[in-house]
Formats: sequence, C-alpha cells, structure tokens
Amino acid sequence: MNRYTIFGNPVSHSKSPSMQNAGFKYLGLDCLYDKTQIKKQNIKDIFKQRDLSGANITLPHKEVAYELADIVVGEANKIKAVNTYIKRGDKIVAYNTDGSGFMMAIKEFLPISSALIIGAGGTAKAIAVALIEANIQTTVANRTASKLKFFKDIGAKTTSTKNLNTNYIYNLIINATSVGLIDDTTPIPINNLKKILKNCSYAFDCIYNKNTKFLSLSKMFCIKCKSGEDMLLYQGVKALELWTNTKATKGLIKCMRDALVNNTIS
Ligand code: NDP
Repeated sequence: MNRYTIFGNPVSHSKSPSMQNAGFKYLGLDCLYDKTQIKKQNIKDIFKQRDLSGANITLPHKEVAYELADIVVGEANKIKAVNTYIKRGDKIVAYNTDGSGFMMAIKEFLPISSALIIGAGGTAKAIAVALIEANIQTTVANRTASKLKFFKDIGAKTTSTKNLNTNYIYNLIINATSVGLIDDTTPIPINNLKKILKNCSYAFDCIYNKNTKFLSLSKMFCIKCKSGEDMLLYQGVKALELWTNTKATKGLIKCMRDALVNNTIS
C-alpha cells in the first residue's frame, strides 16, 4: 500500500483525506491518505521515516517545505512555497498546485484581461504568479504595503488598500485575505468594495464553506461569484495527477468533488 498525508497545524479540519481517498478508490489504487499535525517543521524526516509516497503541505509549513525539498518544479520556484511532495527514488520533488487549482476554478470566467487581488499572503502569491503567467494584468492591494515587493518583482501593479483606485475597471476581483473567515467583515471598506464591484464582471473568494460578506455583497451586484471550494478541489486533483501520473477524467473529478462536499471517506 502507498501512503500519503497532509502536514499542517492545525489540520483536523482538512477535507483533503476525504477527497484524495475517494480519488484513489475511484482509480482502484491501494493507497491511504491521512492527516499529520506537526508543530515542529521536520516534514522531510517524517516523510522519509514513514516511507510516504507523497504528501500535501498546508499552513504554516509551505515555506519550510519549499526549503527542505530536494527538487522544486515549476512556479513553486517563484512562489518559494510548496503544497505537494512526491517521492522519486531517494529524492523529494516538490510542486505548488494552488495557482493551477485557482486557474481551473476560474475557467468559466475566462477570458479576462484584468484582475484585482486583495491580500498578499501565500495564497495571493500563487494566484498572482498564475494570473501573470496567463497574461492577465494583475493588481495586488494589501493592508500592509511592505508585503508588496514580491508582487512588484513578478510584474504586478501594487498598492496599499488605503490608496486603491476604486474607479479603475477590473474584470475579476479576488479576496485572498483571511477576512471573512471567522468574522463578517470585508477586506476593504464596504463603500470602496461596492464602487469596484459596480464595474466588475466576476468575484472570487478564496475562503470556502462560507457565504462571506465579500461574496454576499458581490451577489447583490449580480456578478458571477465563486467561493474557494473549486480551488481546493482542483489543487487536490492536480496533486493526485502528479502522484499517480494520470490525467484526471470528469468521473474522477466528480468523485473527488462529491467527497469534498459530503466529507464522506476519511
Ligand atoms: P496569509 O496569512 O498568508 O495572508 C493573510 C492575508 O490576509 C494578508 O494579506 C493579510 O494582510 C490579510 N489580512 C488579514 N487580516 C486582515 C484584516 N483584518 N484586514 C485586511 N487584511 C487582512 O494567508 P493565506 O494566503 O494562506 O490564506 C488567505 C486565505 O485563502 C485564507 O482565508 C485561506 O483560508 C484561503 N485559502 C484557500 C485555499 C483554497 O484552496 N480555496 C487554499 C489556501 C488558502 P497583512 O499582510 O496586512 O497582514
């Protein structure tokens, strides 16, 4: 049996085991995916001791996992954070599938020419790299302006949320902050958000499992809106494709989506 896990702290809330075990079952593979809560950041040692075939990595270990990997592939080199490990011989190969998961999630919004990301954390970095790679003009606004250097360096326009130009037209607005997760507020003042939404076609909130204030306000402007559930699904689908060296079929994606929604197999 091949074993997989998700490393995080906390990790008890994670739906990845449901989703990935459903995927393995659908493919008829003898694999088991569990959760590993770790405080210390010795991911690589645990990965090797447990003879894992692969893993996902979530908060707060993505940057350390990047540092520890033997080989880093693709956009993860720019983001400097990884969410997927694969054992290849005696090496750990690492990827970041958050950006491609996001692009799959917004497929129904494409083509678009401009996007505004609010937030400058790890998720915003993965999304910004993917949007710029897709030639979409990207603006990043964050409360703390000193965290914007990364985005400027990769070719995004940057601004503090305080100085955000609300008259500018963005096709897509993305909440990549944690605002709305446990509170009922918006990542920028409501009046400013309304001005932007008036001219916007699509809204995406990285937060999943919740109709946030950001999303409910967006719906009032009748624009097409999505929560982060599909991003979670597709980053997982991409990881499974990498582990199993297969291309996901519609049937596999449906099965993983059902498991995510129902949180059935764990
Ligand atoms: P980080 O902790 O790295 O970044 C948090 C961001 O939120 C920062 O930009 C921070 O701004 C901003 N922020 C926090 N509090 C406030 C506030 N009160 N007002 C304004 N801005 C604020 O988080 P991540 O990038 O890892 O995650 C961001 C969100 O994405 C989370 O809600 C997470 O649940 C979600 N997520 C969804 C995924 C999916 O698959 N759907 C995957 C991963 C994450 P500042 O720099 O000023 O502190």
